[in-house]
Amino acid sequence: MTESRLEALPLREELKGQSPYGAPQIDVPAMLNVNETTYDVPADVIDAIAKEVRGAAETLNRYPDREFTTLRQKLAGHLNAETGLELSAEQIWAGNGSNEVMQHILQAFAGPGRSVMSFPPTYSMYPLYARGVYSDYIAGTRGPGYTQDPEDVAAQIREHRPNVVILCSPNNPTGTALDLSVVEAAYAAVEESETMLVVDEAYGEFRQPGTPSALSLLESRPRLIVTRTMSKAFALAGGRLGYLAAAPEVTDALRLVRLPYHLSAVTQAAACAALDHAENLMANVERIKTQRDRIVSELTTMGLQPYPSDANFVFFGGLEDARAAWQHLLDDGILVRDVGIEGHLRVTAGTEEETTSFLTSLQAYLQHR
Ligand SMILES: *Cc1c(COP(=O)(O)O)cnc(C)c1O
Repeated sequence: MTESRLEALPLREELKGQSPYGAPQIDVPAMLNVNETTYDVPADVIDAIAKEVRGAAETLNRYPDREFTTLRQKLAGHLNAETGLELSAEQIWAGNGSNEVMQHILQAFAGPGRSVMSFPPTYSMYPLYARGVYSDYIAGTRGPGYTQDPEDVAAQIREHRPNVVILCSPNNPTGTALDLSVVEAAYAAVEESETMLVVDEAYGEFRQPGTPSALSLLESRPRLIVTRTMSKAFALAGGRLGYLAAAPEVTDALRLVRLPYHLSAVTQAAACAALDHAENLMANVERIKTQRDRIVSELTTMGLQPYPSDANFVFFGGLEDARAAWQHLLDDGILVRDVGIEGHLRVTAGTEEETTSFLTSLQAYLQHR
């Protein structure tokens, strides 16, 4: 009914017949399908957010700080504490989720007649961002086991000369982080055309020990942008706060396309309060990593093929019928993600209890098939 009414609207040609982003939101005991932190927000963080938001409420008759200065300082401080770098607030940009940050990047550096390239299987939003800014989308290819090789990535960039290249590390849905040699090779290639390089580190905080962040490559690379989010490690998916680090002139470019006052005073207050409790929130990251490693090892024992994971989820193959396994898990109250790759599913590492029920249910499925 509404479908035929939608067809009657003078919609942009390229949007006709398209579907919106739609990860299922089903209320079950174990929601392990969109890589949120499944731990409750700690009580002291809830109190701090409520207090800051109350303070912000007193100012809501006025527009918020357009430059979100305090928030940018705190975000820089957080990244510096993680990496030992000395990033300045001028190098930080933020938006309502890293989705909006990515849209700002493409509005500034892609747009009509330009192109965006990423390497599937990867985050399903990249082609949609490209579509939203009237850009062509170029799907690069990966090597065996979904790996990316420095020479191959650089050669594909040199062949297509896209305006924006997005690397996702750790990659969603496969979970594996890129060696920095891939980012370095990609950067050398983007310098030869009118191209910006974005490394999406939405899951950066979950990297395995010894895996460096692309943030360490920012110095003297003005066309490199590293995006992060508070949606995953910070347990703040509902707060909608994503951010990036880049050269200060990149943030100047993004000021040209953002809508005025895009970060509400409420959002800024909530994010600042969460950043003040970063240490407390990061304690959950360690617990989640333990469950992640446990999933990889137990799935291997079950005879399945999990991919090495630097993220808060595990991608695994070896299922005869991924759809049937997905349904079995759902019947047991466990929602995981079918990313549309035959024989594979993706599961978020949740609490110890959620992980146990996932592993138990999957084990039962494999035995009684
Ligand atoms: C979850 C996710 C994001 C985060 O998006 P937000 O808008 O910040 O919630 C970004 N990139 C990837 C690859 C993701 O999986």
